[in-house]
Amino acid sequence: MDRDGTLSHEVGYVNHLSRFKLFSWSVDAVRLLNRNDFLAVVVTNQAGVARGYFPESVIHDVHASMNHSMQAGGARLDAVYFCPHHPSVGEPPYRLDCDCRKPKPGLLKRAEVELGADLSRSWVVGDRLGDLKLAWAVGARGALVKSGYGLGEWEQHAPTLGRAPDLVAEHLLEAVERILSGVEARA
Ligand SMILES: [Mg+2]
Ligand SMILES: [Zn+2]
Repeated sequence: MDRDGTLSHEVGYVNHLSRFKLFSWSVDAVRLLNRNDFLAVVVTNQAGVARGYFPESVIHDVHASMNHSMQAGGARLDAVYFCPHHPSVGEPPYRLDCDCRKPKPGLLKRAEVELGADLSRSWVVGDRLGDLKLAWAVGARGALVKSGYGLGEWEQHAPTLGRAPDLVAEHLLEAVERILSGVEARA
């Protein structure tokens, strides 16, 4: 799962914990994954670090809060992976042409190595076309949610993909429910 716009409200750069707010359905969606033996992994680009907008400590604060909210609701994230880099902006070590900035596959490869995720049977759920490209780059399936940037991405840019999303849902909970039920009808 992508973070901003998928699990949480898209507010631009989350440069302070106070700007982070999960969608009302996100804990339910993750709990559903847990109960159905899916790994629940977050993969998020946070180039605001490379850009100097906020320190990496903010990301750790946000993810601690997110994990706490999940636990309070009986849900569990198996891992939360982020990329703080940007290929051309900022200073080293964050200015880096890394292999983990989505849609590059580094974060998912970590899930494969560290958690034993079977990427060929996995889904990437996100609100940006880059999340779909990430999915397809590793042989996973891609679900586009219409929360966050998703509606605009879907209406304005999806035709440029050259491949239809494997699933289009209003939001993360609907995407998870449809993935679990095997209803992978398009759009
Ligand atoms: Mg997003
Ligand atoms: Zn990176």
